Amino acid sequence: MPGDHRIRSIVIVGGGTAGWMAAAVLARFHLPVLVVESEEVGTVGVGEATVPVIQALNGLLGFDEADFIRKTCATFKLGIEFRDWVAAGHMHFHFFGDFGAPIEGIPPHHHWLKLRQLGDPTPLAEYSLPYVMGKLGRFSSAQQGYKYAYHFDAGLYAAYLRTDAESRGARRKEGKVVDVSLRGEDGFIQALTLESGERIAAEFFIDASGFRGLLIGAALGVGYEDWSRWLPCDRAVAVPCARSGAVRPYTISSARPAGWQWRIPLQHRVGNGYVYCSQFVGDDEAADTLLGSLEGGVLAEPRLLRFTTGRRKEFWSRNCVAIGLAAGFMEPLESTSIQLIQTALARLIEMCPDRQLDPMISAEYNRASVNEWDRIRDFLILHYSATQRDDAPLWQYCRSMPLPDSLQYKMDVFRSSGRVPLLSEESYQESSWVSIFLGQNVFPRRYDPLVDNINVEHLKRGMLQRRQAIRRLAEGMPACGT
Ligand SMILES: Cc1cc2nc3c(=O)[nH]c(=O)nc-3n(C[C@H](O)[C@H](O)[C@H](O)COP(=O)(O)OP(=O)(O)OC[C@H]3O[C@@H](n4cnc5c(N)ncnc54)[C@H](O)[C@@H]3O)c2cc1C
Repeated sequence: MPGDHRIRSIVIVGGGTAGWMAAAVLARFHLPVLVVESEEVGTVGVGEATVPVIQALNGLLGFDEADFIRKTCATFKLGIEFRDWVAAGHMHFHFFGDFGAPIEGIPPHHHWLKLRQLGDPTPLAEYSLPYVMGKLGRFSSAQQGYKYAYHFDAGLYAAYLRTDAESRGARRKEGKVVDVSLRGEDGFIQALTLESGERIAAEFFIDASGFRGLLIGAALGVGYEDWSRWLPCDRAVAVPCARSGAVRPYTISSARPAGWQWRIPLQHRVGNGYVYCSQFVGDDEAADTLLGSLEGGVLAEPRLLRFTTGRRKEFWSRNCVAIGLAAGFMEPLESTSIQLIQTALARLIEMCPDRQLDPMISAEYNRASVNEWDRIRDFLILHYSATQRDDAPLWQYCRSMPLPDSLQYKMDVFRSSGRVPLLSEESYQESSWVSIFLGQNVFPRRYDPLVDNINVEHLKRGMLQRRQAIRRLAEGMPACGT
């Protein structure tokens, strides 16, 4: 229909990472945004590890990398080292890169599987450039064959986004939302009422109010799909500590009896947290476990966070889109929450609503978002289910729990062929799945039979040359600064 149907007013409820990220992106596309946030309520204050897709956001917003790193106290992140997830003393890795180019069209892990069968003990990770860089403590931002992300201070990051958003015209209002009024005829959100009595009306709303889900849940009644049966951790205790030694450009995730612990190095401190299942450990014991394993002096009081893993049944309902913790939560095992905020915003811009709010647009937004969340959920579940630990009730449960059909199918195909069937809206590509499958001792029954058409001595030489080239490249890079 002809005419100007552009949305004339958007209110974002929440000024955490999600709220200010939304404000910055929408303002970048010249959309009229007002952020309503309450200092009294505060933000969750965690969320310090990211994945490489953040580079696209920084590029979109025109951030200068050096300035961004300085002002958010960021360090580089090349991936994650997983300790003790399979068994005590075991280590595996998920770094942001592949294992090299295909050989004769066949992904390199099939060739590695053949050499392994012939007795070659070389770990697959030795074919990953970012892994070798990480282990040698080297870094270069000139990216070929790898990607990188950042660890940063969550509070400083939100402030950085806010400065950017406000410079592009986003407005902010301090105030606590105490009521949400819906339109009688269709249940669309009409206005918010603040504690001061002020009424704020808008045509479109973004719920970035955190775990509360003030608009999407409390006002619009959109239900929550609970994934605790697959991802049973429901609490975390977080505490920063002083750093000792050089910065390692990767996150460390160490399995614990009732969950796992993160270590995120920043310039000025280390972020630590124990994500645990309250059914198997008390809060005090979890805090003691965390405090007893820090590398430096504690810099703040430990903070307890409670959550239920899962997602909204719909992310876009009527004239409201939920992002960030209001949309759902998956534990930070692969640092996917900020990524999901970013992809939600990219999708919202792609499917930009107008005042007609065609339900097909929200339906497609929801379809793609649901798939994206469910694929990530499967990837996280794999970390828990593919364990050999049986030393604690959590791990005994996880190793025998029934899996979602979509993950079971992936496992079955991988076990039979070494191939990873990628589904639509998949965030993780083959090399990521292979890192976790093989890293956690999920081996296929065979490698690709076409590998046997390659002369084995030739293959051995080629693989050795790859490893040597990777090592030379990494050794030629500067030592990690920040
Ligand atoms: C233990 C833990 C570890 C995490 N680690 C990572 C990680 O490493 N990497 C990652 O990507 N993500 C991580 N996350 C997720 C990440 O912290 C969040 O995705 C991110 O901070 C976004 O939060 P948010 O903005 O949605 O919510 P919040 O930070 O909770 O912000 C909510 C906002 O809503 C406002 N608000 C709420 N109620 C009202 C009201 N009534 N009136 C007005 N305003 C209101 C608040 O004032 C606040 O401004 C982690 C989360 C947890 C719990």
